[in-house]
Amino acid sequence: MTCPLCASDAPLSSFPVPGGPVDASADVCATCAAQIDGTPEDAHWRGLTSSMWSEGAAG
Ligand SMILES: [Zn+2]
Repeated sequence: MTCPLCASDAPLSSFPVPGGPVDASADVCATCAAQIDGTPEDAHWRGLTSSMWSEGAAG
């Protein structure tokens, strides 16, 4: 299997989705898991979502 985030051929492990439901998880490689766990990636995703919502509301 390949990592859905970086497409590297590496062993995947289930990683809980930040800010998601309790049972939400994604199969990502150790590198991506470390990046998600070590950086405020969820804030970045929220920013993208906010931009989408703002664009929709403005239109
Ligand atoms: Zn990865």
